[in-house]
Amino acid sequence: MAGEPQSDCLFCKIVAGEIPATVVRKTEHVLAFRDIAPKAPTHVLVIPHAHYPNAAALAAAEPRIAGELLAEAGEVARDEGLDDYRLIFNTGAGAGQTVFHAHVHVLGGMPMNERMV
Ligand code: 5GP
Ligand code: ZN
Repeated sequence: MAGEPQSDCLFCKIVAGEIPATVVRKTEHVLAFRDIAPKAPTHVLVIPHAHYPNAAALAAAEPRIAGELLAEAGEVARDEGLDDYRLIFNTGAGAGQTVFHAHVHVLGGMPMNERMV
């Protein structure tokens, strides 16, 4: 069934608590945690608990949760004291996606004029 956990997915394992992460926010449907290899002073990943391969697939299947994902990204930025920040949804390996569980990068805390992730 769509959205079910995948045994070979790193972010499903983080949602399940099988792999540790520095969690900064958690709601019924969404989890936010710090990127293991930060590209900016604030680099947080916001993901749905449910497994979808990318953000557009999440939005097509679960638009309400996709909206929550965006709202939580904004809350992360607020918690981090950021007025200016960048949200990035890499989609497809050719665009830099390496983990095929929907996520948005929240990046901030430094000037960002170039591609970062
Ligand atoms: P993508 O390249 O798919 O858009 O983003 C995946 C992100 O996941 C990368 O920025 C990478 O640093 C991060 N990442 C990969 N493995 C782990 C991990 O085990 N823990 C955390 N917290 N982040 C990870
Ligand atoms: Zn997953």
